[in-house]
Amino acid sequence: MFLIKRTLLRLCQVALLCISILTIFILFVGFINRPGKHKSGRPAHMLENGFRNPWPTSSDRSFADFMKWQIDRWRGKAPKKPSSYNFTTVENDGGFLRENTSATTVTWVGHATTLLQIDGVNILTDPIWSERATPVSWTGPRRVVPPAPAFDDLPKIDLVVISHNHYDHLDKPTIQRLGNSAHYFVPLLMAKWLRGLGIENENITELDWWQEAEHRGLKIVCTPTQHFSGRGLHDRNQVLWCSWTILGKTQRLYFAGDTGYFPGFTEIGEKFGPFDVAVLPIGAYLPRWFMSPVHVDPPQAAQAFLDLRARVFVPIHWGTFDLADEPMDQPPQFLVAAADSLQIPRESIWLMRPGETRTF
Ligand code: ZN
Ligand code: ZN
Repeated sequence: MFLIKRTLLRLCQVALLCISILTIFILFVGFINRPGKHKSGRPAHMLENGFRNPWPTSSDRSFADFMKWQIDRWRGKAPKKPSSYNFTTVENDGGFLRENTSATTVTWVGHATTLLQIDGVNILTDPIWSERATPVSWTGPRRVVPPAPAFDDLPKIDLVVISHNHYDHLDKPTIQRLGNSAHYFVPLLMAKWLRGLGIENENITELDWWQEAEHRGLKIVCTPTQHFSGRGLHDRNQVLWCSWTILGKTQRLYFAGDTGYFPGFTEIGEKFGPFDVAVLPIGAYLPRWFMSPVHVDPPQAAQAFLDLRARVFVPIHWGTFDLADEPMDQPPQFLVAAADSLQIPRESIWLMRPGETRTF
């Protein structure tokens, strides 16, 4: 009896480990779903079936690459991480945010979720209030710090911008809570997924790279990133990925979502810069041989900040979900050192804690 119980327990542990690895696999690789060829006369990022990164800085990762990464981890080749982190949130009761109709503010909620207030419009980027970034609620990467402010303390959200459909950026329960009270700006072919959750078509604006639309006096531009998409085993790159450029009456914001370092930063900076704020990812960068096409490391993020010609750098995509091999508190230290060597003034780097609001 004891032996049966022990075997069952071991089987459950193995099943849980397999599902956990599968979740990470979906987040970072997925299988290519016969993307087809590029047809002449079409934009360089569009294939017969799906999308691609059209820059020489990009390359695809295979199932074999993913397995090598996982085996390296299992063999202990990844950096040792502390067993816990002492990340804390800043208290933010949302009162100021709910009453503010004039100041331009940025609040880091955690991971890639920020609340941006500009010209009286309240914008959420890649909102996730869930405990885990995963296709199932009971396993997969879990938060080490709660989102702040709490969802119920948010001001009325006018606009949501989504960069791509990975689970740490597109969270079904959070979208269901926001429902039809907000308008959604999404990259090409993501509208269908939102409609499946009951979001009305009139509340969705779906754009291709370099397309733009007006919303409540803001000009919103869908700008490129070097990344990929997928939420299952066979939907890689079927939906486009992007960053968002938000142009107000006098101020300009840039939200990168998730991206590798690519020539597009310079192009976006030339077209729409200088930016008042660039919200850029700095985490999930190790191992470099695997992550570099799709995730910048802090020195590359600092270079992107210069390319974009931005005044303030708000680092995101760190300290919330443990997605890669670097210790979770390493990205900000690495960023400050990189910024020093690039002679970026320390006061330009707004290293925030979840829940913190700054006005500019
Ligand atoms: Zn991603
Ligand atoms: Zn991500």
